[in-house]
Amino acid sequence: MRIKAAVMREVNKPLSIEEVELAQPKEEEVLVKVSYCGFCHSDLALLTGTQPYPFPGVIGHEASGIVEDVGPGVTTLKKGDHVVGTWMTACGQCPECVKGWRYLCRRGRTIMANGTLLDGTSRLTDAHGDMLHHAGCVSGFAEYTVIPELAAVKIREDMPLDQACFFGCAMPTGFGAVINVAQVKPGDSVAIWGMGGVGLNVVQGAKLRGAYPIFGVDLEGSKEAIAKEFGVTHFINNSKEDPVPIIKEMTRGGVNFSFEVIGDAGATAQAYWAMGPKGKLVQIGGHRLGQGVKLPLLFVSYGCQTIEGTTYGNTSAREDIPVFVDMVMRGVYKLDKLISRKFKLDEINNVAEALSKRQVIGRWVCSFD
Ligand SMILES: [Zn+2]
Ligand SMILES: [Zn+2]
Repeated sequence: MRIKAAVMREVNKPLSIEEVELAQPKEEEVLVKVSYCGFCHSDLALLTGTQPYPFPGVIGHEASGIVEDVGPGVTTLKKGDHVVGTWMTACGQCPECVKGWRYLCRRGRTIMANGTLLDGTSRLTDAHGDMLHHAGCVSGFAEYTVIPELAAVKIREDMPLDQACFFGCAMPTGFGAVINVAQVKPGDSVAIWGMGGVGLNVVQGAKLRGAYPIFGVDLEGSKEAIAKEFGVTHFINNSKEDPVPIIKEMTRGGVNFSFEVIGDAGATAQAYWAMGPKGKLVQIGGHRLGQGVKLPLLFVSYGCQTIEGTTYGNTSAREDIPVFVDMVMRGVYKLDKLISRKFKLDEINNVAEALSKRQVIGRWVCSFD
């Protein structure tokens, strides 16, 4: 079928909005009519070449939608089901999956790097008949997409689809880092670098766990209001002041948990220095390949500190997302305020530009309604 999609053709060039051909779903795949797709900072990282992506391809990895058709052998989904696409497909059989580390699935990682579906091929071709890559099996900046059954997580139908797209990336990445990686306890002090979509989910998770104080650090003072709305108790604009001495003084020695959500050497260094004894630095942001950070590890031994990386908040998409959806529906967890703007696919390059200038507050989502 012919669909409209945003195609990444080159690094540091605008996305091209094209009519592309989407083949029917094959074995254990579903055709999804995309409802919403959030624009994540990782999308910008692909566009700028900071993170590798095998373009040309249709990007977008934070999507919600409705199943339109199912391929042969699909048993868990049917036409009309509401789903969230996950970029961390877990096969359930590789050594990592067997250990319960579904966020590290070997097969999921391979197809993400290759830009294909699980069988190693693509359902996308451009107008010239040339193959286009998928993005983490989701490719949500398109009217329709074909997703493996394993990567389409069924959600309850009363969950609003505009908020549901966040279950594909920002929500589990941020919230999971708090509950699975840091395992924040009531009264723990935390500091978070980066008040974007993921960072605000770290904030909300820390607040739910009873953390105090919750420092929110961002280069943009314009993020202060939304940061405080989600639960930040002390906002620090690190383009104006050094957050480390402020945090050290207020916590009498440093925080229990630092979260770095940007992937920036300077931010990671600040997050490191802001840790107190026995503190843990949770590295969420993906650093540019080859980028190093100089940190004196002597203090890590002396202070019994930890630096721990995480992907997808160490969550298991198919098991955890339905639980997270229930939390939102019970009013325990809030995602509505994260949507600050809805945009149309044709406007996507303006969104990329605004994000690169740090002008996006909350998350902007592409609407296909
Ligand atoms: Zn993302
Ligand atoms: Zn696996």
